[in-house]
Amino acid sequence: MNEQIYQITEKRTNQLRSFMETKQIDAAFVTSGPGVRYLSGFAGTPGDASLVITPGEAYIITDSRYTIQAGEQCPYYTLIGGGASDPGKVKEILGDRKLNLGFENFEISYNQFKRTEAALPEASFAPMDNAIRDLRNIKDDTELDNIKNACRIACVSLAETVPYIVPGAAELDVANELEYRMKKNGASGPSFDTIVASGVRGALPHGLASEKIIRSGEMVTIDFGCLYNGYCSDMTRTFAVGEPDPEMRKIYDTVLYAQLTAVDAYRPGMSGADLDKVARDIIADAGYGRYFGHGLGHGVGLEIHEGVGVSPHGSPSLPERTVFSIEPGIYIEGLGGVRIEDLITSVDGVKTVLTAISPKALMIL
Ligand code: ZN
Ligand code: ZN
Repeated sequence: MNEQIYQITEKRTNQLRSFMETKQIDAAFVTSGPGVRYLSGFAGTPGDASLVITPGEAYIITDSRYTIQAGEQCPYYTLIGGGASDPGKVKEILGDRKLNLGFENFEISYNQFKRTEAALPEASFAPMDNAIRDLRNIKDDTELDNIKNACRIACVSLAETVPYIVPGAAELDVANELEYRMKKNGASGPSFDTIVASGVRGALPHGLASEKIIRSGEMVTIDFGCLYNGYCSDMTRTFAVGEPDPEMRKIYDTVLYAQLTAVDAYRPGMSGADLDKVARDIIADAGYGRYFGHGLGHGVGLEIHEGVGVSPHGSPSLPERTVFSIEPGIYIEGLGGVRIEDLITSVDGVKTVLTAISPKALMIL
């Protein structure tokens, strides 16, 4: 196992080194939690470790709370004891010499950057922009396995929670049951705050579970996910509790048709805008265009929103080995809402819906 982690993190670190070479960067200072985890394997609290990577060496800086953990999780990296954000440690590793130091300009705090600059007066600083995010966007087999497992746990846990979606239950009761089941089934926790939005609250696309009681005749939208080895799942299903209002049923059928058509339309390399348009046109043709206010989907990985975007202004390409959501929705104030969401990927020309075992035909509970 350790040998495998060594090889995976060596490979990822070498990919960053290739980028560094093209940009004449002599060393990279990595401070973001997901960046540190991706490159080194460190699974401690984000911000509690940082990395210094040179063409020939790889160091992880973390304090005594993590000495044993980092030794086990990061076999490719040499451990340097100290505070992750202490620029003195970076200086200790690199010395006081002229070099071009890459840093994560979208992630580092202004304060930490200024302190690093002050500690290394001879260095010049090179913003690495999205270099590490771009590497993370394309998932290797280990990452895909982790996301698949997170999706499987989420689907199984939702099926186990369906009997609890009954008139008289509070939205929070359903959310708590679902989160408990996900943990029991092997997740380390939810990947974001569980959304359970019933009845008119369904019009809130991010309606966190509340104390509202679910009543017969309402629809219930559940958007949730879990973490497995640090990787997120994300999915949404909408249920009817008792016979739904005919308008809500029409909305459900429209969202489902838009979702299925977009899943079917995805081809590796197509643009996020083109895929978004497939679903958006169907919803607009049904007369609900102005009630679909968000993008069709987003990339998922170590973070719940990362990598590709699927929206009118989305990524120019949705390549193979990216994992992203397809989640059209219609939300009408005073009436309610419906959203249906799957995660999808394509590897070697084979497209897989990672949350497919959870049915999407309307379930009337
Ligand atoms: Zn979601
Ligand atoms: Zn999502």
